[in-house]
Amino acid sequence: MIPTPTSFEVLPRDLSPYKAGNVGVDYVHRFESGRPGPHVLINALTHGNEFCGMVAACHLLDHGVRPLHGTLTVSFANVAAYESFDPAKPFASRQITHNLNRIWSSDWLDGPQDSVELGRARAMRPVVAAADHILDIHSTSADVVPFWVYPQFERNAAVAMALSQPATHLVMPSGLGSGAPLIQHGRHGEPGHAVSALVAECGQHFKQATADVAVAVALEFLAHFGMIDPIAPAPSARAPRRRFELLRTHVVQQPDFRFTRPLIGFETFAEGELIATDGDQEIRALCDDCTVFMPTREPIVGREGVYLTRPMQ
Ligand SMILES: [Zn+2]
Repeated sequence: MIPTPTSFEVLPRDLSPYKAGNVGVDYVHRFESGRPGPHVLINALTHGNEFCGMVAACHLLDHGVRPLHGTLTVSFANVAAYESFDPAKPFASRQITHNLNRIWSSDWLDGPQDSVELGRARAMRPVVAAADHILDIHSTSADVVPFWVYPQFERNAAVAMALSQPATHLVMPSGLGSGAPLIQHGRHGEPGHAVSALVAECGQHFKQATADVAVAVALEFLAHFGMIDPIAPAPSARAPRRRFELLRTHVVQQPDFRFTRPLIGFETFAEGELIATDGDQEIRALCDDCTVFMPTREPIVGREGVYLTRPMQ
């Protein structure tokens, strides 16, 4: 298991100055250029303890970034979870009840249940639905390289390939497999639309370098769509792209789920090699060079344990 950090380079800041938005939804700020163009959404804090997105969203708002054309929306999603941050339990403030990044299907949004996250998703639903291009900013428990995550539509790959970072891509041919993430809501989850939606996993939750990546990716995303003037590419611009295809998402079934050895992500396994056990179930590599993404730091029944991928040619 990844140890609980004892120092935090980035900590939550008071977001109350950003609460009053201008579209009738708390923590949502929209800027219209008055000129035709795309509607771009930069979203932070889908997970409450992923501070890098908060830093990026504050950067855009504090610097008065305004779109040269089209519409820019900047949002903070799960502020309730964010505000529950406790340095003694820094991973607990990811969510209050539901994972806000798994409930963007009409089954959940129109369903009978309620929670902080379902209420927030319902409030933000028109905000997400209105956006043509979405950057949803995240970070990881483990200190691994930044990477994109996106449904396997060419329109998403085109954006990720055009930006100078992250250089690593996790592509989802048939979705996440454990729920509907924000980037698959509505037309963003369907073929045939001139839209895009990507998650940027910017690095480890509490590192300054992660926040720096989030700011740079947000600015480059805006520049890509002509919302702001072009910006200098990151040093990784010429790094070879590494793309991985999601084969399987394993959701933890039993409290005794455990890996055969400590994992942080990007470890590779030979076909058939045992990666984890979960009750009587064996989780084995599905191919040679089967590469692990986001192994859970603390198995919780009903949450994702590990993502198994295959390097793409
Ligand atoms: Zn996240």
